[in-house]
Amino acid sequence: MHPCQPNVRSLALSILLVLLSFAALGPPGEAAAARPRIKVMLLTGQSNRYHNWSLSSAILQRLLEQPGIFVVDKVTSPPMGTDMWGFRPDFGKYDVVVLDYEGDEWSDPTKQAFVKYVKHGGGLVSFHATDNAFPRWPEFNEMIGIGGWGLQLDGSLGARTEAAGPKVRWRDGRMVLDDSPGLAMHPPKHDFAIDVRAPDHPIMRGLPARWMHADDELYSQLRGPAKNLEVLATAFADPAKHKGASGEHEPVLMTIRYGQGRVFHTTLGHVGPKDVDPVTPLNCVGFIVTLQRGTEWAATGKVTQPVPSDFPVADKTSVRNPKTD
Ligand code: ZN
Repeated sequence: MHPCQPNVRSLALSILLVLLSFAALGPPGEAAAARPRIKVMLLTGQSNRYHNWSLSSAILQRLLEQPGIFVVDKVTSPPMGTDMWGFRPDFGKYDVVVLDYEGDEWSDPTKQAFVKYVKHGGGLVSFHATDNAFPRWPEFNEMIGIGGWGLQLDGSLGARTEAAGPKVRWRDGRMVLDDSPGLAMHPPKHDFAIDVRAPDHPIMRGLPARWMHADDELYSQLRGPAKNLEVLATAFADPAKHKGASGEHEPVLMTIRYGQGRVFHTTLGHVGPKDVDPVTPLNCVGFIVTLQRGTEWAATGKVTQPVPSDFPVADKTSVRNPKTD
């Protein structure tokens, strides 16, 4: 017998005992110190000609990896215009799906798997123009609450008409559903103030009542079923400053309850086809913090991330430089 053999055996036994003792701790959620990181699927791969999914998804991945509480897997769909039948993401492996996608319809089995995933408690984050996607998919429209544009059957934009549902307004201190006509639009990119409307929501707790958001599209007149929707924050689309602006407090951050699933919907974060990194609105601290907190909330129902000291204030934007901050 080799003299080391008993030691090898006892070492193996020790390792086994350590592993068994970890297993005896029970589900990871019971022990905060042993809590695994939140599993995020960042689903991307297609956008309309006004956006750049490749760049936006790379930035989203970087931002989501910063707090150290997420593990991010990027899942890229087949290119636009190609066969989508084989695209079958394994949603069930993840705590939350962050969608940066506005493109071709998924196959029916993939749509059904996604509906099942969210309905049974999966988290969902709808980022910016994702709410342009799938205008004729009723379950998706319920998940995102409201959306805009979307391709009509002839390929032109404007599928979300009055038939899609009402617009969501914030008037006299409360949410109002507005059935009047009007298609989605947005003024040219500009800085705008964001007003918190649900200060006690975990995503918003501790944020200033108003902050300035940097150089972004202010999505306006989005429409949809707006069921089980809570407005977290709005921004005023000022017709005195921008021709054709709606003159309404437009919802920019929302949550939607879909079955057991939690959905966080941010309309912020335009990345155009000619943009290069750093892209200002995605490096705005208000965008970063609400994305990170909204993703955690969609996954767990809680927010553990503190508000950073460089968060923007009512009259001043705060934009990080990804190379130095
Ligand atoms: Zn955009």
